[in-house]
Amino acid sequence: MKITRKSFLKAVSILAGGAILQGNKLIAKLHEDNWQLTNLRNNIWTFTEQGGTIGILADKDALVVVDAQFPDSAKDMLTAVNKKVERKIDFLFNTHHHPDHTRGNLYLKDFADNIAAHENCVRLQKTLYGNDEKNPQVYANITFTKEWTADLGNEKLYAYRYGNAHTGGDAVFHFVNSNVVHVGDLVFNRVFPWIGGLKDESSIVTWAEYLEDVARRFSDDTIFIFGHGLTITGNKNDLYSMRDYMTALNDFTKKQIKAGKSRNEIIESKEIPGVKDRKEMRSGMMKANLAAAYELITEKD
Ligand SMILES: [Zn+2]
Repeated sequence: MKITRKSFLKAVSILAGGAILQGNKLIAKLHEDNWQLTNLRNNIWTFTEQGGTIGILADKDALVVVDAQFPDSAKDMLTAVNKKVERKIDFLFNTHHHPDHTRGNLYLKDFADNIAAHENCVRLQKTLYGNDEKNPQVYANITFTKEWTADLGNEKLYAYRYGNAHTGGDAVFHFVNSNVVHVGDLVFNRVFPWIGGLKDESSIVTWAEYLEDVARRFSDDTIFIFGHGLTITGNKNDLYSMRDYMTALNDFTKKQIKAGKSRNEIIESKEIPGVKDRKEMRSGMMKANLAAAYELITEKD
């Protein structure tokens, strides 16, 4: 057959179409493989895609999800979970009200019997975020004040709140038998944290105390899940590192205010004494932390 320019182009376009089709399948497959669960211990897993780390208990007797990310990533998480267990979520928990931990409630509500959180998480979610068609909110239907426990088949769950920290409504969730604790955004592991300030009811001082309290309650064998960080699981040393950062940030900012420095001078500081190993996940995070500390200490922004 004589290859004309026309037939050549036709052949090329068919080949290219095939390659694109294969490429799409490949992308779909890569997408699927990317959003896998990581096993920590027994039937406890983590999922990361967009936003705060999700912690999951997935066994035949119980399905528990701690934090919801966003609707799209919540869907990817549930797809991965359903490859392990096919059952309704017994409890979905929110560690605090921030969107990257609660927006996924919108997708997960249809697959969950209950959504539970500390009462201040729901209060702040209601106060700070509009609930309209553009920005629909789904709130926890179960709330607790101090602590909360549940028997979940082979597991037992214990949740508690110490006080204001990253927000006014942070709770930690302990899978007792497996000894895994999700601490939400109490820990931004080895990175500068997000501190919302007065509107979020943050408290740097109590945040440090809270981390101390968590570290004392649990053992050297405990695996901790962190909302964000260079690595999203770790041990007590990571909690102490975070505590030391919060203390250093507070002490430095207080000292600068006492020395008569202006807000601008403080937030332009090149370093926080004693803080060496913390990275910025986004540029300007250290500056933002100093601004939040100034706001919380002086109650002025
Ligand atoms: Zn947060």
